[in-house]
Amino acid sequence: MSRILHRTIGIGLPTAVAGEGIYITDREGRSYIDGSGGAAVSCLGHNHREVLEAMKAQMGRISYAHTSFFTTDVAERLAEQLVELAPKGLDYVYLVSGGSEAVEAALKMARQYFVEIGQPQRRHIIARRQSYHGNTIGALATGGNAWRRAQFKPILPETHHVSPCYAYRDMQVGETPEAYAERLAVELEAKIVELGVDKVMAFVAEPVVGATLGAVGPVADYFKRVRQVCDKYGILLILDEVMCGMGRTGTIFALQQEGIVPELVTIAKGLGGGFQPIGAVLLSEKIYRAFADGSGLFQHGHTYIGHPIAAAAASKVVEILQRPETMSNVAKMGERLQAGLDAALGQSPYVGDIRGRGLFRGVELVVDKETKQPFDPSRKLHSRIKRESMQRGLMCYPMGGTIDGINGDHVLLAPPYIIQPEQIDLIVERLAAAI
Ligand code: PMP
Repeated sequence: MSRILHRTIGIGLPTAVAGEGIYITDREGRSYIDGSGGAAVSCLGHNHREVLEAMKAQMGRISYAHTSFFTTDVAERLAEQLVELAPKGLDYVYLVSGGSEAVEAALKMARQYFVEIGQPQRRHIIARRQSYHGNTIGALATGGNAWRRAQFKPILPETHHVSPCYAYRDMQVGETPEAYAERLAVELEAKIVELGVDKVMAFVAEPVVGATLGAVGPVADYFKRVRQVCDKYGILLILDEVMCGMGRTGTIFALQQEGIVPELVTIAKGLGGGFQPIGAVLLSEKIYRAFADGSGLFQHGHTYIGHPIAAAAASKVVEILQRPETMSNVAKMGERLQAGLDAALGQSPYVGDIRGRGLFRGVELVVDKETKQPFDPSRKLHSRIKRESMQRGLMCYPMGGTIDGINGDHVLLAPPYIIQPEQIDLIVERLAAAI
């Protein structure tokens, strides 16, 4: 009997005992293709030798130094690497231990920024429906999942939600992408006006939505219009790249495909490649200056932030991401995955949409292709697909049922960047069989 409290009490999970490349093996000797990198985490696969060596080397040097006493050379190096890779304007890095913590830190930075510059009345956070930004109290409140939040009220901070950019479901017949982006910008602006033009501190969004929608990217002008609206009202833009960042969508940061620069970016998951929990907030000079020229204090901190072994793993992961062959494989294998899914599932009456960028792809399931009617959540389609895939030796990341009162089921794929063509084909074959 397992003594572990699972998220879903009583379900029997296989016990993983080994991981190598894109495969995980369980105690019974069954092998699974990690088609989702766990939850878009294991970007370089399991047991990547170079990352392991970097961690081992760091363990032999120093394995922990509290950040109130020291910075470390390895954390400094990681920060340099991240700033070098990030779009110009994101000049500083705050290291944390995971995705929720990154979102939490970004929200607190936004709040303190406005206190520092004498606008403490800016407290409201606007995010989007059907979003997920983490499970700590602030991140949970920011996420658009009413069901997840409901049981923790009334202690959750007040947050507000507008529509996500979800062209497959929301773009009207005959509406151009530009007009759709404009409609969403108008909705955001109306929400800001409703809350008070000088009362909103931040707008939070994932550039490409992962867990809740299944690899849904924005239409071309969406983030440009969002940036303009934020600028008009002096609101900070926080982009959550915890899932879609670190090369997942074909560029190191997904926002690089949108032609805008936010004030704050959160990253985690792929940053540590699954070797160590780590995350980071990248911040603009403006935010940094407010602290540096103001109280001199960012009032935050967790015990394991900037952990040297995690930083050593992440630094090596980032170094590998910078190699041209890594990102070119993401592009090539991403295209192969899309083409394979299109060929195997495009004609299925139950597959409404196949989309995504890089090695971040989603398949949306519907009862009827024409009406796009989703499956009844009581059928628990996503859980059944997960079970069927696991039985066929494939880990994928199905989600759905009801999110924020809206029904829908999809499957997210996010395999490691080291994946090879025949392994992509196996993912497609197994997923199609499971569906
Ligand atoms: N933001 C996004 C976009 C995520 O996908 C996740 C995790 N699924 C988080 C934040 C929270 O990250 P973590 O689970 O590492 O706390």
